[in-house]
Amino acid sequence: MAEYIGRFAPSPSGRLHFGSLVAALGSYAVAKHKNGKILLRIEDLDFFRCKKEYTSIILKELDEFGFVFDGEPYIQSEHTDVYYRVAKKLVEEDKAFYCNCTRSHLKTGVCHCREKRLKENAQDNLALRFIIPSNHQNSFEDEVYGVISSPVTVDALTLIRRDKVISYNLACVVDDIHQGVTQVVRGSDLIDITTTQMCLYNALDTECISYLHLPLAMADETYKLSKQNRSPAVLDQGPPSQMLIKALAFLNQDISGLNPQMTPKVILNKALDIFEIKKIPVGKKVIEA
Ligand code: GLU
Repeated sequence: MAEYIGRFAPSPSGRLHFGSLVAALGSYAVAKHKNGKILLRIEDLDFFRCKKEYTSIILKELDEFGFVFDGEPYIQSEHTDVYYRVAKKLVEEDKAFYCNCTRSHLKTGVCHCREKRLKENAQDNLALRFIIPSNHQNSFEDEVYGVISSPVTVDALTLIRRDKVISYNLACVVDDIHQGVTQVVRGSDLIDITTTQMCLYNALDTECISYLHLPLAMADETYKLSKQNRSPAVLDQGPPSQMLIKALAFLNQDISGLNPQMTPKVILNKALDIFEIKKIPVGKKVIEA
């Protein structure tokens, strides 16, 4: 059987919050459980939201939790030429097009840029948009959630914005392919975008991989924990050992043999020995701070 390769892919737009810890722990534990590798990728392409100092902080915080990833962290901003190259190839293959519509025009009006066959020009701030094929798949099988039906409702997807920010969807799929990732484990806030990402796999002539989404940590009934809504940094909520145990409990794992006096590494090792994928719950859970 092919080797399992998983990854944890945080965006350095703030410190790790409890939801990030759940994603880190979930992807790490599943990869170890399957005797595979776990890679760390820093998704820092949105230069408006991501900061270099958060990359260093996240690396340090992951280390404090005792995670040891395989290989060096892969920093997306060091590889922007790769994403541009792939996007341009999609244009050459008539699977994507340059577009000069503003975001507000796209919301209300009709875009005719595809027919215009605009050419890239250094002076123009053109976006690059991918054409969602009409015969795309509307569902997929998730290892925890089962069959997920999520029809793609847009006819084009922005891969590179007019301000030159490379989209998460493009970079994520390009890197998952390039890094040989065999399963994506991540928070279920991204479950609905999966079918859209699968369209990109097809356009890049690559077999789709498998997915496992984790339950979503919520600040209250309405808001998921996220850096954008200023969720507290998980290491401000308690020491690493305590927060690891809390994250394991969130994933419904057996924590009876663990206590916060143990080091994070001991907790991780003990937890990995008895980790059970079938215990991972589905849905959303409110986390008391
Ligand atoms: N970078 C994304 C985030 O921090 C995760 C992307 C993914 O796992 O596909 O939310």
